[in-house]
Amino acid sequence: MELLRTVDAMHAEALEASCRGDRLALVPTMGALHEGHLALVREARERADHVTVSVFVNPTQFGPGEDYESYPRTLDRDMERLEEEIDGGVEVVFAPTREEMYPAEERPPVWVEVEALTEHLCGAHRPDHFRGVTTIVTKLLLACRPDLAVFGRKDAQQFVVIERLAEALPFGVEIVGVPTVREEDGLARSSRNKYLSDRQREQATVLSEAVFRAEERIRQGEQRIGPIVEDMTRIIGAAEEAELEYAEVVDARSLQPIERIEPGQEVLAAVAVYFGDARLIDNAFVTAPN
Ligand code: AMP
Repeated sequence: MELLRTVDAMHAEALEASCRGDRLALVPTMGALHEGHLALVREARERADHVTVSVFVNPTQFGPGEDYESYPRTLDRDMERLEEEIDGGVEVVFAPTREEMYPAEERPPVWVEVEALTEHLCGAHRPDHFRGVTTIVTKLLLACRPDLAVFGRKDAQQFVVIERLAEALPFGVEIVGVPTVREEDGLARSSRNKYLSDRQREQATVLSEAVFRAEERIRQGEQRIGPIVEDMTRIIGAAEEAELEYAEVVDARSLQPIERIEPGQEVLAAVAVYFGDARLIDNAFVTAPN
């Protein structure tokens, strides 16, 4: 396993592997790796000859006052986990510096932006977040030139936005989605779970309870949005330390609000909840019965 720190070194490695005829996979992460990330890496390992895991805490996707400075940075431990817990290991860990991805001379700034899909859900509460995500993903795809890139469906809106990005621009990359990996009690694995106190950790199961409840009601044929959102809100409200940011049901492709769920329609039920300063999200893609 090689640790590469510069775009040039990464690019050279990718070209060399491609020339050998390898199929290349990229798994973009912000590090502090957990079982959710490892599931993505295993998926990449099965599908490709050459796997790169990028580890980069991307400043442009954090808003003012968000946790950019305090975000856990554990590169040594991350590399150990990749070595010990991935059968066959990975070929490259790409961990560029901030300066490498955003050179100081990069003025005026250049952004890659996906419209419409970023208007609601997290996009409504974190202005500029998705612009930061699509810009860094573009830079990573150009540096790593993968045939496929693996993302978690846990970040559902991000996943839909990146699928659109990859469809719209000629990266020639296949976007692969991996289902959300959860703790035994249902809590979605997240690097931000580390921020929770014991009490908050116990209460944080309300996120998955809320989206599972929405899933159940939609599968049972509930077509009205109101009662589903009310259910999710009530479940989150039962946790004393939880502060609901949003609970929504939107069309899974357009990510736009809907008035009613149509038979056979795929929708996304999603929540974002604060426990103290920790912001957690969860969601479920659900197809309504015909
Ligand atoms: P992050 O390091 O949080 O930016 O996440 C890097 C990638 O891992 C993203 O594609 C996430 O969607 C994915 N990911 C994070 N947590 C999970 C999880 N619990 N299950 C599946 N994928 C996840």
